[in-house]
Amino acid sequence: MALLQIQEPGGKQAKPLHRLAVGIDLGTTNSLVSTSCGLRVETLPDSEGEHLLPSVVHYRKDESPLVGFQAKALLVEDPLNTIASAKRLLGKSLAELKSQHGYLPFEFDNSRDDGAPAILTVAGSKDAIQVSADILSTLVSRAEASLKGALEGAVITVPAYFNDAQRQQTKDAAQLAGLNVLRLLNEPTAAAVAYGLDSEDQGNVIVFDLGGGTFDVSLLSLKRGVFEVLATGGDTNLGGDDVDHVIADWIASQMSESTGIEIPSQARLLQLANEAKHQLSDQKVATISSEAWSVKLEESTLKELTADLVRRTITSCRRVLRDAKLAVSDIDNIVMVGGSTRMPLVRDAVAEFYGKAPLTNIDPDKVVAIGAGIQADVLIGNKSADSFLLLDVNPLSLGIETMGELVEKIIPRNTTIPVAKAQEFTTFKDGQTVMTLHVVQGERELVSDCRSLAKFELREIPSMVAGAAKIRVTFQVDADGLLSVSAEELSTGKKAEIQVKPSYGLESSIIEGMLQDSHSNAQSDMETRSIKEAQLDATQLLDAIANALRVDGELLSEAEVGTLAESIKKLESIMANGSSVQIHAATEELNQVSSEFAAKRMDLHIANALRGESIDAVEKQAD
Ligand code: ADP
Ligand code: MG
Repeated sequence: MALLQIQEPGGKQAKPLHRLAVGIDLGTTNSLVSTSCGLRVETLPDSEGEHLLPSVVHYRKDESPLVGFQAKALLVEDPLNTIASAKRLLGKSLAELKSQHGYLPFEFDNSRDDGAPAILTVAGSKDAIQVSADILSTLVSRAEASLKGALEGAVITVPAYFNDAQRQQTKDAAQLAGLNVLRLLNEPTAAAVAYGLDSEDQGNVIVFDLGGGTFDVSLLSLKRGVFEVLATGGDTNLGGDDVDHVIADWIASQMSESTGIEIPSQARLLQLANEAKHQLSDQKVATISSEAWSVKLEESTLKELTADLVRRTITSCRRVLRDAKLAVSDIDNIVMVGGSTRMPLVRDAVAEFYGKAPLTNIDPDKVVAIGAGIQADVLIGNKSADSFLLLDVNPLSLGIETMGELVEKIIPRNTTIPVAKAQEFTTFKDGQTVMTLHVVQGERELVSDCRSLAKFELREIPSMVAGAAKIRVTFQVDADGLLSVSAEELSTGKKAEIQVKPSYGLESSIIEGMLQDSHSNAQSDMETRSIKEAQLDATQLLDAIANALRVDGELLSEAEVGTLAESIKKLESIMANGSSVQIHAATEELNQVSSEFAAKRMDLHIANALRGESIDAVEKQAD
C-alpha cells in the first residue's frame, strides 16, 4: 500500500504583509466573525455593537434580504418568508427532513430535481445553501467594513459529525458568498485552539457545547500537535430552548393557581422564561412579572425543573468516554462552548461528572469563532505554521466493494486528514475489460450494511487472465473532508476518477448508529466476511474443475469421475450453509481429490504442446 505525499493547504511561506483573513462560526442559532487584531483574535461587532448575528434570514420582494436581529424580529409575524436554523437543512433531502421533523412551517419547492429542501418565499425558492450564503455575506460585509479591505480567505467551522454532503454544502454557500475558504474546521477543534490547548504536547480534551437547540460533546486527543476527534456524541434536539419550555410551563402552572389571571400566549411565556433563565445565571432569584402578576423563580426550583435535561447531557458525556474507552481520569481539560453553558447548574453538573472545573474564561458564544480566527491567521500566512499543524480525522471508514459484496477499507475511520492512500486490485474473471468501482462508507464488512457514496467504471482494461491486471485505486480526502477516488490500470495508464459529492448526508445520530452497529456486529461481521471469502475460493475451484471436466473429462475413469462428483457435491452443500472453517476444509478436500486429474491434464497438455498445439487451441476446440 503506497502512501502519497500531500501538501497541507496554506503552505509555510510567510508573507511580510498582514493579509486579511477571518474565522467564521456559522451557527444554528447565532453566527460570528473574528479576526486577528495585532496580538489577539477578537470577534467583530456590527454597527450597533452586537457581536452575535442571529442565523435568521427574512426574504423580501424586490429588495435584498434582512439578516440577523431584524429578521429574527419577523419570525412570528412573517414565518413563511423568514428562515431560521437553515444549518439543520444542509445536506439533507426534503424527504429525510419531513420524516425527521414532521410538520415544518414552510411551503417547499417540489420542482427541485435533486430533492433538496428549498423554501418558497416572496423572493423565490431558497435552499439551505442560499440562506447560509446570505448569512455569510452579512458577516463578510461586517468584516470588510471594519478591516477596511477585501478579505482574502476564511476558516469556517462545522460540527465534528458533519458528513461530506454537509461540508460540501457549507463550502458551496461560502463560494456563493464570494468567500475563499481556507479550510473547514471542526467546531470542537476550534474551541480547543481558542484556549491554546494545541500548544501543549498531548492531552485529552472534552468540548461540551450546549447551544440553543443542539448539544454536542466531543472528545479530542492531542498528539504531537495533531488533534484527533476520538468520539462525538450529543443530541441534535437538546439545548437552551428546552430550558425555556420547562420554565414557561412552570410559569403557566403558577399563573393558573392564581384566579382571575389570563395566561399569556406561548410566545410571551417563552420570552418571560428566557429572561428569567438569563437572570438566574447571575443571581439566585429571578423575578417574573407580567402585567398584574408576579412570581419569583428560585435557583433551586430551576435546578429541579431542568434536572432531566441536565441528566441527558451527562449521559452523552458518559457514552463518549465509553466509545473512546477512556476514563474520567484520562481527561485533562474540559472546554465549555455555547450560550447555555453560562447556566451555573450546567457548569456544576459538568464539574461534578469530570471531577474538575471546566474552562470558562473565554466567552462561550465566541470561543469557536476565536479558534477559527486563529487558524485563519495561520493559514493565510500571517503566522508561521511550523508549530501549528492542525489536523482532523475522517469520522467513518471509506472503502470499496470487492468480490462477494465485501468492503475493502482503504481509509479507516479516524485517519488524520488530509490523506491519500492507494491499493492495488485485480480482475476476477478472465478477459474482464470493465471494472465497476463502488465507493462505500461505514464500519461493517458487507456492502449492504454500509452507505453507498458513488459508483463509477474503469473501462478498456486490456483483456488478460483473471488476476493479471493491476489496477491501482487511490482514495484522497482533502483538508475539508471531501473525497476523490481514482482508478488506474497500470500497464496502459487508463484512468477513471470521481469526486465524491454524496447528495445527502448523515445525521450525527446515524453516524453514531452506524458505529454502534459495527461494534455490536463485529463478531458476526467477521464470520460473514470469512464465509464470503471461503465461498469465493470454493467457487473459483468449482468453476475451474467444471471447465476442466468439459475439456478433458475423458481422461478420468468412471470411478474417478464418481469420486470427484461426490466431493463437488459435498463442497456445494457445505458452501450453502457451512462455517468458513468447514468450507475451507471441503475446498481443500476437493483440491486433494482433483489433484490427480490436474496432473493428468498437465501431462496431456505438455504432450500436446510438444506436438505443436497450444493449450489455448485445445481449450477452444472443446468449447
Ligand atoms: P447555537 O450554538 O445553537 O447557535 P448559542 O451557543 O448561541 O446557540 O446559544 C444560545 C442559547 O444560549 C439560548 O438558548 C440562550 O437562551 C442561551 N443563553 C445565552 N446566554 C445565557 C445566559 N446568560 N444564561 C443562560 N442561558 C443563556
Ligand atoms: Mg454553537
